[in-house]
Amino acid sequence: MKTQTPESVLKQYFGYDAFRPNQKKAIDSILEGKDVFTLMPTGGGKSLCYQIPALLLPGLTVVVSPLIALMKDQVDALRANGISADYLNSSMSPAEQWKVTEKLKRGETKILYMAPERFKGRDSFFKSPYGKGDISLFAIDEAHCVSHWGHDFRPDYLQLSQLKKKYPKVPVIALTASADNTTRADIVDKLQLNKPETLVSSFNRSNIRYEVRQAKDDFDELIEFLNTFKKESGIIYTLKRSSTEDLAAKLKEEGFNALPYHAGLAPDKRARTQELFLKDEVPIIVATIAFGMGIDKSNVRFVVHMNMPKNIESYYQETGRAGRDGLPSTALLFLNHGDMSTLRYFATIDGNEAQTEIMLKKLEQMLEFCEIKTCRRQYLMNYFGESHPDTCGNCDVCLDEYDAFDYTVEAQKVLSAVARLRQQYGAEIITLLLKGSKSKKVQFWMQDLPTYGAGSDQTADFWKDLINELTAQNYLRRDGNPHQVYKLTEKSRSLISGNTTFKVLKPRTERKVTAESDEKVDRSLFELLRAERKRIADNNGVAPFIVLSDSTLNELATYYPQDLESLQHISGFGVQKIRSYGQAMIDVIRSYCTENHIKPKRIPKSRGKSSSSSKKTSSRKGSGVNSSNNITLQMYRSGKSIEAIAHEREIKPSTVESHLAVYVERGMLELEDMVAPDKIPAIRQAISEDDSGFLREIKEKLGPDITYGDIRFVMADMKAN
Ligand code: ADP
Ligand code: ZN
Repeated sequence: MKTQTPESVLKQYFGYDAFRPNQKKAIDSILEGKDVFTLMPTGGGKSLCYQIPALLLPGLTVVVSPLIALMKDQVDALRANGISADYLNSSMSPAEQWKVTEKLKRGETKILYMAPERFKGRDSFFKSPYGKGDISLFAIDEAHCVSHWGHDFRPDYLQLSQLKKKYPKVPVIALTASADNTTRADIVDKLQLNKPETLVSSFNRSNIRYEVRQAKDDFDELIEFLNTFKKESGIIYTLKRSSTEDLAAKLKEEGFNALPYHAGLAPDKRARTQELFLKDEVPIIVATIAFGMGIDKSNVRFVVHMNMPKNIESYYQETGRAGRDGLPSTALLFLNHGDMSTLRYFATIDGNEAQTEIMLKKLEQMLEFCEIKTCRRQYLMNYFGESHPDTCGNCDVCLDEYDAFDYTVEAQKVLSAVARLRQQYGAEIITLLLKGSKSKKVQFWMQDLPTYGAGSDQTADFWKDLINELTAQNYLRRDGNPHQVYKLTEKSRSLISGNTTFKVLKPRTERKVTAESDEKVDRSLFELLRAERKRIADNNGVAPFIVLSDSTLNELATYYPQDLESLQHISGFGVQKIRSYGQAMIDVIRSYCTENHIKPKRIPKSRGKSSSSSKKTSSRKGSGVNSSNNITLQMYRSGKSIEAIAHEREIKPSTVESHLAVYVERGMLELEDMVAPDKIPAIRQAISEDDSGFLREIKEKLGPDITYGDIRFVMADMKAN
């Protein structure tokens, strides 16, 4: 028999060609017998870190997970790949448990999932015959549950400190997607890990596009947004239980298949809704934040927030439920300043001023994120303590072209109104005053102020937006709780005295939020394959994404493979899946190709080299964005240099580069024309050896001869391949 390597196991069982950097390090360390601590974002690929060693090591791998509801899915997914896996938890009948323990005694199981409570009591794991058998590895999933400092402490996890005592020779890998430094140290301590190899991945989810829109016609915009997604899955979060039901009903009237979900529904109804979502039967769930914990569905294409979340942590976690499969996904947030009072109310904890202050601060930061005019990804990454270059090319700010409007005079009117109101009123009164309103809210003394009516030439919305903009740029600050009043700042004076100008950036094109599609994918075939996948999933009683992932269907609908042989080159088709589902997929593709006179395309060899957790990031297009990218492309093709385009379009050269990178990725521009060919190999190597995910780090390694643009283009080219 051929000796197995991590790479051959990856290909044979999972159908993938390459590891993501930290996966390989984790696997190698385990195989060397070391303990490992892995911090990776959701969708980063934690499971393979222990599943691959499990297949290479002789004995049993025990995986501890607190999410009982997920165990079945994980085991189903492994079995679909031809791996012998089982689980034990309290939801099973004694007969079912007996069956599993018998298999374990016979040594037939490679990977066993267990709930933490199994490690205590009379029939604990430690006393069981299989617990005394040949154990090769312990994997502790959601390892933050062992720490009081984490957000999800589970006392049963403390039992796991015995593992290293009772099995000193067996390596332990602890995995989590959420741990700050304190929690991290605590996990290592509680689990008694022995000098663990610590692997921390970047938390950048580069396949998720972040967009924030002012909530004005949010329902109409939502409909337009959803229309671009067809049958794809997504979650819409709202603040209140009642609004989940209202919105789901309104969406139904518009012909969308949507269901509400919140903690007030009966447990069986909630379970049913969740199942319909997992099984691709209901694509849209309108939910409170109660929805999503423990949902592992990989093909969630969008997450919409109808209201602002309470802090950046929640926003990151909720939006992170999109795109676990690495395909382009969208996180859209509707910003409504009217939500602030409700959110402030939620953030206020009676009798705990210190905590309240922290929560309010976090809320302000969330608002700041929504209002910034700089790269949103950079803000998020900085928030989590990572550095990130100032353009990501995949958030609304980076993708829009802005025009600067000079609103110095208008801004002076606002600031003077604030001053005249003795810095004691909120946005509503300031606006009414400027408009010269006759409302009773405008007291008599206010009507005598010189600013009364000074802004009657503009709409109330204009003034409200301007107040927000002034706040975002630090010319005003919000103060007071719960009533928000506006105060002047250090910066205000220079503006009032006319020493500075005040500019507001507005998107040049009216941007429309849209779903992104990979233009090479044949959508009609994709739909047929999706239907076939659903049929297979139903027959096997599993969720569709367990049968084949969306990215695998994408590849099928791009290359039209027509025999089982070619399926070996499709990412996500391991040996077992070719055997089980290959023919069914081939049949669909063949009859489609015959009908439409389509020939199979060559599948590029170097494809699927996933150097980071993202694939095809910037091949997405939004209509407004696209036209802007396209203008850049036309100018470039007409022979203009990047600098010349930047100058002419009044945008940054880095923006021009990120526009052009999209076309390199799509294969519409040749890499060799963009970057001196002799530079390419070194850049490529530096990128593939990098696991920070930061352009800056890569650039530092390469030295001054290589520009950020060079790196961007090579990266784009690597993504395409
Ligand atoms: P996590 O547990 O960190 O959220 P998963 O282990 O569920 O992430 O992996 C997320 C997705 O990425 C899965 O669909 C998985 O099959 C896929 N994946 C993981 N590693 C690779 C790889 N090396 N190449 C391609 N796809 C991968
Ligand atoms: Zn950005």
